[in-house]
Amino acid sequence: MKFAVTSKGDHKSNKIKSIIEQYLLDFDLKQSMTDPDLVISVGGDGTFLHAVHNYFHRLKETAFIGVHTGHLGFYADWLPEEVEKLVIEIAKKQFEIVEYPLLAMRIWRKDEPQPDRYLALNEATIKKIEGSVVLDVAINGDEFERFRGDGLCVSTPSGSTAYNKALGGAIIHPALSALQITEMSSINNRVYRTIGSPLILPSHHVCEFKPVDHNQSFIITIDHITQSFDKVTSIEYTVADERIRFARFRPFPFWKRVHDSFISDSR
Ligand code: NAP
Repeated sequence: MKFAVTSKGDHKSNKIKSIIEQYLLDFDLKQSMTDPDLVISVGGDGTFLHAVHNYFHRLKETAFIGVHTGHLGFYADWLPEEVEKLVIEIAKKQFEIVEYPLLAMRIWRKDEPQPDRYLALNEATIKKIEGSVVLDVAINGDEFERFRGDGLCVSTPSGSTAYNKALGGAIIHPALSALQITEMSSINNRVYRTIGSPLILPSHHVCEFKPVDHNQSFIITIDHITQSFDKVTSIEYTVADERIRFARFRPFPFWKRVHDSFISDSR
């Protein structure tokens, strides 16, 4: 089995990265940054997002695991003091795979014949630097509402504890293949009306955002990446066909992670 270790880049994470690499090499495992079977991310959930994006092109062949050097992470759920135990598990055991859904997004732009396709592990958002975002929301091809406000967030179940939660969205168990749309400060008055509540769509549904003015530029975030897009005519969101694969060596139920992150850490 080939492995890769990625680090947040701080002293503590780099040190743990070196220890993991040395232990795994001592167990005769091969190291490969280009085609690893297992990626071990050392840092926090942010570091984990970077690591996953680096291997989006080979999700079927790669499993992920996270060691957290900050506070408890959702994706990074192994403690630094458990590293020896983890390494022995990796070297000696066949790991179990747990799959979570991802978000797929296609962006169409004026004068571009083909859309660009992106994947997100947490969420994608659409905002503007100046002024309100004004766009029509369609679900399965039917007009749903005209949104006017700061922006919209479309998240995965595992991303529902991140930005989505801060926007008042629901926490969704990642066993559910779904996407969630949450509003950022929508304008609601006699002229403009939005639903006002988060919407949860099943995997066979399609949501589309169609900016009213095709000449405006938008700030689009995809997990930790922020990019400016101009001449956007339409953005389509679905649950991706691809899924992320986590290497699981012990049970750590999602609801326990929610409890330990947001209520109190029982470990
Ligand atoms: P960041 O602004 O440096 O960190 C955002 C925070 O979100 C970090 O504390 C991170 O944990 C945590 N986080 C990431 N994924 C999570 C998840 N699935 N569940 C619970 N917490 C999670 O940005 P970043 O490190 O580059 O991460 C990008 C993410 O930040 C985005 O995907 C978005 O979800 C989130 N974000 C949240 C808000 C908000 O809550 N108002 C605003 C903007 C962006 P670690 O400390 O372990 O890395």
